[in-house]
Amino acid sequence: MAGEPQADCLFCKIVAGDVPAEVVRETDTTVAFRDINPQAPTHVLVIPKVHYRDAATLAAADPHLTADVLREAAEVAAEDKVDGTGYRVVFNTGSGAGQTVWHAHAHVLGGRGLNWPPG
Ligand code: C5P
Repeated sequence: MAGEPQADCLFCKIVAGDVPAEVVRETDTTVAFRDINPQAPTHVLVIPKVHYRDAATLAAADPHLTADVLREAAEVAAEDKVDGTGYRVVFNTGSGAGQTVWHAHAHVLGGRGLNWPPG
């Protein structure tokens, strides 16, 4: 069920501390940690602590929590000092868009030039 921890969810396990992650920020509602396969000098994932399968489900169910995730993405960018040059926040939503972990997450990417359109 949306919002409930999922036993088979990798990111729920990171929230619980059962899977290690390089956590850079944590709030009451979110965790931010460095991606294990970084695609840019700054590549941090911001996730809600509660489980939603993707960004669309999260946004429909809990707009305030969605705003928490976006606010934390901006805080990560500021802490990594990539806010001045520009950074990207990406929610891959659905397998065709490259989503591989089914717990909503924002990718925060920065520290290098980012092409548009993305691949
Ligand atoms: O958008 P997508 O679902 O593909 O993103 C999942 C991300 O989670 C990947 O960038 C992957 O490198 C990252 N990941 C991680 N730590 C894990 C497993 C996956 O940072 N233990």
